[in-house]
Amino acid sequence: MNALCTVHYVLFVTFYIDDKFLLDYNVYMRNITELIDILSERHILSYEEYLEIISNASESQKDYLFSRAEEIRKKIYGTDIYIRGLIEFTNYCKNDCFYCGIRASNKKCERYRLTKEDIISCCSAGYDTGYRTFVLQGGEDPFFSSDDMADLISSIKKQFPDCALTLSFGEYTYDTYKKWKDAGADRYLLRHETADKTHYNKLHPKKMSFDNRIRCLKDLKSLGYQVGCGFMVGSPFQTCEHLAAEMIFLNKFQPDMVGIGPFIVQKDTPFGNMKSGTLEQTLIMLALIRLTLPDVLLPATTALATIDPFGRELGIKAGANVCMPNLSPVSVRKKYALYDNKKSADEEAAEYTQQLSERMRKIGYNIVTDRGDRKHANIEQ
Ligand code: SF4
Repeated sequence: MNALCTVHYVLFVTFYIDDKFLLDYNVYMRNITELIDILSERHILSYEEYLEIISNASESQKDYLFSRAEEIRKKIYGTDIYIRGLIEFTNYCKNDCFYCGIRASNKKCERYRLTKEDIISCCSAGYDTGYRTFVLQGGEDPFFSSDDMADLISSIKKQFPDCALTLSFGEYTYDTYKKWKDAGADRYLLRHETADKTHYNKLHPKKMSFDNRIRCLKDLKSLGYQVGCGFMVGSPFQTCEHLAAEMIFLNKFQPDMVGIGPFIVQKDTPFGNMKSGTLEQTLIMLALIRLTLPDVLLPATTALATIDPFGRELGIKAGANVCMPNLSPVSVRKKYALYDNKKSADEEAAEYTQQLSERMRKIGYNIVTDRGDRKHANIEQ
């Protein structure tokens, strides 16, 4: 019996003696299996209830959590897996996030930028393989003006009108986001990294601001983008309490996509000696997200595939429904080293989509040629 269970036992005895409080106690702390059932039906728990699952679920309760998450994922998305072609077009970044391998201060990072022609030829190759969403991802690179990006966005949308275009290159003003939306962008991914301001300040240098990150997310939403946020699991200084707070944040913000993956150390950063996050905790968070936001787009990320050879499959079985193989030219893939040993070959590479498809088939899923928009399910809370 751990400390928390001891407290529950004492409360139980106390409440049992005076049975007028027994009902209150049952409301206050149900067992974890019951909490998972409630979450599956109502798609919301209290902070304390999320915390209880995150901190104390047993192995069998975790398996139950994953199975309930997979069940609801199948109800909405069937066995479809959406694929996105990821194009990492620049690894220059003006920022210095303490955890990131392409941070401005990392002199060991070999920098590159793709040209517009390079990017469009990546899209072309991806289109021929069946990709109908392209994700343009990069550091915050002032080399590309907002007009350059608007021109690139409209060229891609003109050439591939049946494809969705996702942008993921950081914090900008409302007007810039609007310009890119007007140019045809459909979605924007901007990980908030943590919903706790104090924690955010431990992961980022002083000149970066939690409030501005949240302002960006709100602007993107108000402009009509499909918006993705997300965070690292097991990042330095993160506690179970932070993870429970993430669930409350996600429920309030209601994003269309959530990108989470384990924190993985990059040796040339200030966090080079920290511990990486775990597969297990990431799977728990994926499942909680699926049950809280049943129709959300939820990738089994490259980071998950990096920490475990079956990470991608386990992510799908815990509720994920998206994979994002790499469409960038092979010559630059290793240079986009956000963390150590990042997978960029085999099924993480778009030229191996057939192999990825085989692996998904083995666990009962199938990759589809589809834009893969969010299906808005009628969820009542
Ligand atoms: S996490 Fe993003 S913003 Fe931060 S340094 Fe890396 S690429 Fe730049």
